[in-house]
Amino acid sequence: MDCLFCKIIAGEIPSTKVYEDDAVLAFRDINPQAPEHIVAVPKTHIESANDITAQNVKCVADVWERIPKIADKLGFGKDGYRVINNCGENGGQTVPHIHFHILGGKKFTDL
Ligand code: 5GP
Ligand code: ZN
Repeated sequence: MDCLFCKIIAGEIPSTKVYEDDAVLAFRDINPQAPEHIVAVPKTHIESANDITAQNVKCVADVWERIPKIADKLGFGKDGYRVINNCGENGGQTVPHIHFHILGGKKFTDL
């Protein structure tokens, strides 16, 4: 499949992995917007939030369940963090494989 994050999941494109299991991969964003900037993805290809269904929502829930564990593992969980999902063109989504940005290591003041 011609999907950047599927290629990262398959190991065809290198990434700095910070967490991996059967359902979820998390890696460092190549263009970090905070001291800690992790991208967490389901290993199942779902294009965007608009494509979540009753059948595939477990894949998304799996990512969410891992997010606090990833933040804790990297040492910024207790201080808090921000999770962002960009959906579609107006949402600023550039990679059409659903993902959650985990941003930490600083205090965010604006929305
Ligand atoms: P979006 O804009 O779709 O919400 O987020 C896509 C994110 O993927 C961006 O923050 C971008 O920096 C990151 N990204 C794009 N290409 C690569 C890559 O090849 N490797 C890694 N680690 N991150 C990437
Ligand atoms: Zn994909």
